[in-house]
Order: sequence, then structure tokens, then C-alpha cells
Amino acid sequence: MSGRFVAPRWTPGERLTGRLPDPEWSDEAPTIGVLALQGDVLEHLRALRRCGANAAQVRTATDLDGVDGLIVPGGESTTIGKLLTRFEVLEPLRARVAAGMPTFGTCAGMILLSDELDQDVEQPVIGGLHVRTRRNAFGRQLDSFDTRIEVAGIDGGPLDVAFIRAPRVEQVLADDVEVLAEVDGYPVVVRQGPLLATSFHPEVTGDDRLHAAFVATVRNAMAAP
Ligand code: GLN
Repeated sequence: MSGRFVAPRWTPGERLTGRLPDPEWSDEAPTIGVLALQGDVLEHLRALRRCGANAAQVRTATDLDGVDGLIVPGGESTTIGKLLTRFEVLEPLRARVAAGMPTFGTCAGMILLSDELDQDVEQPVIGGLHVRTRRNAFGRQLDSFDTRIEVAGIDGGPLDVAFIRAPRVEQVLADDVEVLAEVDGYPVVVRQGPLLATSFHPEVTGDDRLHAAFVATVRNAMAAP
């Protein structure tokens, strides 16, 4: 994976922009969805396509049936949760996650995959990831920051990532959760079998190594008997 990585031309604070390339569909490649109800969908689709996956937007239960893995993007977790309920995707998605579909949650996606939230107000979540997560743990929008971070299992040096009103894991609730990176002693990248979650946005910097790792997870899950 690291051998194919080409350092992105990216400077902190810069966001990638531009049109989504037309999909090039391949029968051999895994099809990975990006939950497209609200939030940062486009850059995930682009990153997945750069990593050799077929990438599709998922808005309905029928869309979900057609994917081998899913990214739950950053955005606003309360809004995405409400739309999951309204579009009747929440229960089918919970069932797919429980059945072992590889799922990658970034930022709001990490919040939505968490079993528990460190707050009094209720909000709908998908759950499945055995952690308690605190929203906006690094402060408000103005406290957002770009940084480089070492992630266990990702070769090639620190990753370029963006923390945007980011959550963090306050507590790991089960032994099968691996902590792959921490900031200030709190987990910001966790993996639990086929579930991966990051506090930050890995998709806005052009550093595709986490997406490549997730595509590999999806390929392995498809190859498993
Ligand atoms: N703070 C947002 C939330 O609570 C997440 C921010 C993000 O995804 N960049 O949902």
C-alpha cells in the first residue's frame, strides 16, 4: 500500500476542490458506498476512486443493498441521524453493520458509529463500535486544525488530516477495539474488526492511505468464505 503512495501537493489549510471524475466501473473492484444524506460526500467518493474502488452514493436502503462497504462521512451527526431515520435507512444500516459490513466513519461518522455518546441529549446513532465518544471534544469551529498524525499500521510517515469540530473517543468499552492513534491521550483512530473510525477528516488533503487501507479491508471481507 505504502509503495503506491505519492505525497500529495497539499499545504495545511488548503482544501481540495473540483468536479467529481466520472466513475470508471470495474467488475473486479469492490463497490463502496458513501452515505450521502448530508456532509462531506464528494471528497470521499474521489478518494475511493483514486484507491481503485467503485464508489457510489448511498441514500436509500436499496442503494445500501448494492455496496460491499460504506463510508459514513463527516458533517453534522444530528442531521445525518435524523435523515437516516426519515429515509428509513437507519435500521437496514444497523443490520448491515451488525452483519459485518466494513464501515468507515470519519468525524460525524465516528459519532454515528459509536455505541455511546458522552452527552445527556439523545440523538439517533447507528452504533456497533464499542466506544463512548464525545462530540466537539476539541472545541468549536474556530478551534479546527490541520495536522499530521502517525497511525499504527499505516506506513509512510504521518498522515495529513483535518480536525473540524472533531469528536474523540472518551472511553473504549470492549477489548476488541484497537486504538491506532491518540491526541492528548485520547483515541482519535480506532478499529474494531471491519469497523474503522477517525475523529478527523482524512479525505480533504489528498492523503489517501486510510482510504486505501479501508478498500483493502473491504477486499479481504469479500474474499473471506
Ligand atoms: N461536530 C460535528 C457533529 O457533532 C462533527 C463535525 C464533523 O463531522 N466535521 O456532528
